[in-house]
Amino acid sequence: MADSIIGMKLDALKLTNPYLELPAECHDRTEPSPLNKPFLIHANEPLAEQLDIDKDELYTERFVAFVNGSWHPEGSEPFAMCYAGHQFGHYVPQLGDGRAINIGTLKGWHLQLKGAGVTKYSRSGDGRAVLRSSIREYLMSEAMHGLNIPTTRALAIIGSEHSVYRKTWEKGAIVLRLSPSWVRFGTFEYFAHKKRYEELKALVEYAIKESYPHLLEMEGRYIRFFAEVVQKTARLMAQWQAVGFQHGVMNTDNMSIAGLTIDYGPYAFLDDYDRENICNHTDAYGRYSFGNQPSIGEWNLRALMVALAPVIPVEVMEKALARYGSYYTRAYLYEMGKKLGLEIVTEEDGKLIEHLLGVMQSLQVDYTLFFRTLSRYDGDRRALLSLGLYHKPLHEWLDDYDARLKKNEADTAQRHEAMLQANPKYVLKNYMLDEAIAAAEEGEYGLIKDLFAIAHDPFAEHPQYERWAGATPEKYKNKKLSCSS
Ligand code: AMP
Ligand code: MG
Repeated sequence: MADSIIGMKLDALKLTNPYLELPAECHDRTEPSPLNKPFLIHANEPLAEQLDIDKDELYTERFVAFVNGSWHPEGSEPFAMCYAGHQFGHYVPQLGDGRAINIGTLKGWHLQLKGAGVTKYSRSGDGRAVLRSSIREYLMSEAMHGLNIPTTRALAIIGSEHSVYRKTWEKGAIVLRLSPSWVRFGTFEYFAHKKRYEELKALVEYAIKESYPHLLEMEGRYIRFFAEVVQKTARLMAQWQAVGFQHGVMNTDNMSIAGLTIDYGPYAFLDDYDRENICNHTDAYGRYSFGNQPSIGEWNLRALMVALAPVIPVEVMEKALARYGSYYTRAYLYEMGKKLGLEIVTEEDGKLIEHLLGVMQSLQVDYTLFFRTLSRYDGDRRALLSLGLYHKPLHEWLDDYDARLKKNEADTAQRHEAMLQANPKYVLKNYMLDEAIAAAEEGEYGLIKDLFAIAHDPFAEHPQYERWAGATPEKYKNKKLSCSS
């Protein structure tokens, strides 16, 4: 049928609202508050195709109205979700979608308008998102997807003439974001701390159905569910560490029960490798520093375990949680093995990786560029040596690496090919986003399109974007970002 090739018209979309089947305490029906004078900044064509939405529809007024919340597809029943969470280690009993409004589910993707106005859970917030933070979320979720890291997605971003006050007057924007699940660790904490165990149980059932449906018919599905969350979280942390991604606000309300990267705030990709790096301006003590992320993942799982204790035996959850370290190590070895071009990775290789990270820490070398350069290493060390401050430590590591590569069966060209698919040429560093944001604030959106193109396909060469493939310019390295967005 021609229709299925072209995709659906917006008028033909039919949304469902499975989350509304949960008890009334879990959500609040609320309508979006549209922005003044909205206009499309960018739409994600590949994702539209995946959703079977006609590409041409993305450039219509109806689509802008859709993202602005002033037009809903059939079946939409907008609502906000409540949750709680441990923020910087302290329990906050009442959080929730303060500025994200759910508008329904399409092909298993739950659609949210982020920045669409106040909800019951806005507390003192204005329910808005400013242009700069919306650009960051829009591009970054696509970048993570391009890097094959589990993440929420975004279908479009709109700008507006709506004034929003932060430290100064800025413009409001909305991102239409999508996820197979918006349930957070903090969603369980909310009901556990209120002693609403019926809702807690209903939520566990819901999360299993939504994100772990293979467990549905199994005996002991609750504990299996927790064990799988442990495993998925460990894997996600390993992927973040391997690619050099720092989330910045790993509060339990920003932890996905489905093991996805969610809520992009003051995140950063590493510039020079630094395990102590802190990207969040408000994180005075480095709780969410780059190197702490794996252990914070475990801390957050423990908070989840405490929340689930009324419905799942703690002793059994403790056993599942005790495996977090080994899951993480295995996943990290796997990821780093790919980056190093090793065909088979063993625990023994952990030493080679640790050695390299120690060397990188002292070399002050750009993390992404180093691995991309290593992907073409053929014994000639000059290109690698030129990247860092000191030669001796790198020579020592390369001696070990040369010896280790001898155990590979494939030839150098095959290793290069595999490594170029494991080590991105581009990651969206903050200085690049800042440039796109500065231009957007002047009404120029071309850089968003460019960054979207490399985010979507970060392993390709893209010669026209070469200027973003190098080390971060000195003055922009390892800057901190604020949460106020
Ligand atoms: P975040 O740090 O972005 O994960 O947000 C933490 C909490 O604050 C969540 O419950 C958000 O919904 C809420 N929040 C953040 N910004 C706003 C805002 N401008 N208006 C209302 N709620 C907000
Ligand atoms: Mg959040």
